[in-house]
Amino acid sequence: MQSTNPATGEQLATYEEDDAVDVEEKLALSMDAYADWRDRPIRERETLLANAGSVLRENKRRYAELMVREMGKPISQAIAEVEKSAWACDHYAEYASAYLSEEHYPSPPGTEVKTVHDPLGPVLAVMPWNYPFWQVIRFAAPYLTAGNVGLLKHASNVPGTALVLEEVFTEAGYPEGVFQTLMIGSSQVEDVLADDRVKAATLTGSGPAGRAVAETAGKHLKKTVLELGGSDPFIVLDDADLEAAVETGVQARTQNGGQSCIAAKRFLVHEAVYDEYVDRLVDAFEALVVGDPTDEATDVGPQADAALMADLQEQVQASVDAGATLLTGGEPLDRDGAFYPPTVLSDVPSGCPVDSEETFGPVAAVYEVADEQEAVTLANDSRFGLGASIWTEDRERGEQLARDIESGAVYVNELTKSDPRVPFGGINDSGYGRELSETGIKEFVNRKTVWIQ
Ligand code: NDP
Repeated sequence: MQSTNPATGEQLATYEEDDAVDVEEKLALSMDAYADWRDRPIRERETLLANAGSVLRENKRRYAELMVREMGKPISQAIAEVEKSAWACDHYAEYASAYLSEEHYPSPPGTEVKTVHDPLGPVLAVMPWNYPFWQVIRFAAPYLTAGNVGLLKHASNVPGTALVLEEVFTEAGYPEGVFQTLMIGSSQVEDVLADDRVKAATLTGSGPAGRAVAETAGKHLKKTVLELGGSDPFIVLDDADLEAAVETGVQARTQNGGQSCIAAKRFLVHEAVYDEYVDRLVDAFEALVVGDPTDEATDVGPQADAALMADLQEQVQASVDAGATLLTGGEPLDRDGAFYPPTVLSDVPSGCPVDSEETFGPVAAVYEVADEQEAVTLANDSRFGLGASIWTEDRERGEQLARDIESGAVYVNELTKSDPRVPFGGINDSGYGRELSETGIKEFVNRKTVWIQ
């Protein structure tokens, strides 16, 4: 496995892949670790998780710099990602035992009926490169604290980060084998997931990867949670605070180089404010600092991978060929590295790539809508259903509209974001299941009914 700096094209390091013998050793170790880990008091597991949060904070600059080198995230955003990961550790260190406390049910007199929450065993996590710390901690913090053990198969372009994540848990004092990184490519996932010792899988990534994992898991009757792509609508109504809607809209589309499943991808703007909103959005896109991700002042770094940037460029070009109007950006920058400029397209024909596919880069598609009904119709005209954001000064109107949107989450006058306290996940082609919060930690437990007569 090789890592490459997408800002420079420089090859960073080469890593040895695990062969079948290595994988077998790790699976066996994972079972040994589970036998002990599952029986430890949850308070002890919470304490170790709090330690993991401290390790993340103590090393945040080093970890952030590694992410910057491997996938090009601007340094300020990389530091924020490590801090957010530590927050998820704090959250579950504080709440896991309450979330997993026994639930009691109505029962005949003299009888006690309850559910208790047992762990499942080794959980395989197939994770992406776009938030290489956060996505991993998002699964590990709840699922390990519930008593499961983790096997990470990280994206092949962030092997250094994959190994450092294992170090985080070791340094925090976790017993050997509770969290292990498998250095394997995607072609080896099927065999690992088919192994009887692996009880469940969580995947964050593209639709094809999600379908492949779901197919194997289905064949072997294993529970999965899938967090796949999105094409989130960002609806700006006629009574919106335009300044806030521009500021958040820019952040929502361009943070992390636009490589986020919950990025705002389709901007549906009421005709009464359309011209003003789009002018301001274009100006704000053009004012962003695109460049060296190690510079604190950079807003948009390189795309994580030259091949993925080429895919993005094809989506933009095909949309322009189909009739979309390019308002700014639209061509890779003429310099070394995978740099793509913040791009805005209007007059977007239905069914063209920026309308119907996920665009994983800083490309906004803007649409003029006559009223809120048209906004909802267009918002729901997507095979995805991850998040949505609605901007209006009328909170009731916002809430009503939120109910009409078909997605896993809707944020009114707020950026669509993940938060350890709040369930996160999608419907339709955006996947199924929920991560984070009490709902998330219960995805990978056996809710065992106990009836005591
Ligand atoms: P992938 O979905 O291919 O990669 C995500 C993870 O899944 C990686 O660990 C990858 O391993 C693994 N994987 C890929 N194919 C399979 C498979 N058949 N079976 C098991 N595991 C698999 O994403 P890409 O990096 O190729 O990005 C492509 C597009 O996916 C993006 O442009 C974006 O649209 C979407 N995406 C969405 C993300 C999200 O947050 N929802 C995150 C990342 C991508 P390996 O790296 O070894 O191939």
